[in-house]
Amino acid sequence: MAGFLVANRGPVFIGGLTLKTWYVEDAGGGCRAFGEVVVLVCEETGEVYSARIPVTWNNKMGWEELVCQRMIELMDQAGATTEDKYLVCSGNIFHTYHKWLTEHGYNWETHKMDGLAHDAAEGEFHRMVLEAGFPEDIGLEERDYRTYYNKIENWVASDPVRKQLYWKDREVRKKPAVPRYVLKNTMARERTCRHCHKKIPPFSPAVELKFRQDGRKIRDFFHPACSPVKPLKSQLHQLEVNWQGSKLTGLIIPCPAETSCTLCGQPVEPGQATFYAYDKDKLICGHPGCFRET
Ligand SMILES: [Zn+2]
Ligand SMILES: [Zn+2]
Repeated sequence: MAGFLVANRGPVFIGGLTLKTWYVEDAGGGCRAFGEVVVLVCEETGEVYSARIPVTWNNKMGWEELVCQRMIELMDQAGATTEDKYLVCSGNIFHTYHKWLTEHGYNWETHKMDGLAHDAAEGEFHRMVLEAGFPEDIGLEERDYRTYYNKIENWVASDPVRKQLYWKDREVRKKPAVPRYVLKNTMARERTCRHCHKKIPPFSPAVELKFRQDGRKIRDFFHPACSPVKPLKSQLHQLEVNWQGSKLTGLIIPCPAETSCTLCGQPVEPGQATFYAYDKDKLICGHPGCFRET
């Protein structure tokens, strides 16, 4: 792999920060056996981070969304930042990730991959196949993927146990990425956490999951700590204020029904941005301006 280090692409130093160029590539998408592999690669430093997508899953997540989550995890591991540059494979597998990069202000573009990123992705896919027991003397020759993948598919299909473990689930990959985990709040209603079955009080942070089942729209709520995935989106606006000698974190939301400010006693009109927080178990609310001044 070290042979792919390219001499004329040295790191760029700006204000003491090293800006890296990250390549994002996948492998194994064309093979009907085994899940895909995704990689995050920096040619300048030779860093390779990789993740494996399972053959199937059942947590209602779309394929592209699952891939996006894995990429975010790899970026965390790599310490990759918005200052860095990203060159990403244009394949469908990365569509949700492309959107996520744009929404979060990353400097990125699509790129036709070769070099280290391509080799790292193929190498990691091959390593996964070998770990399953595939004969070591068979590999990719002269970039003839169809022949290589056919051999893997035949090897998997020839054994019922292997087929159950390693055959790619196409259906789960076709499902659109409808389920959306969004970090928001419970507004004026109490909800029940889908995971721990305990109550989530009104005016508290909560992760909402929306999906369709048998044509019906379903909404589930989780405590943020109970959510099976880290939400990609946040609609939660929080404010930390000084309260009786310590800090108190609450929400800013449009007031659902007329109430009065705990601090100044004046009315708070429906729709007006309002601060809500729990002081121990007691709900307090009012004008954000009044609470900022405490
Ligand atoms: Zn919970
Ligand atoms: Zn007030």
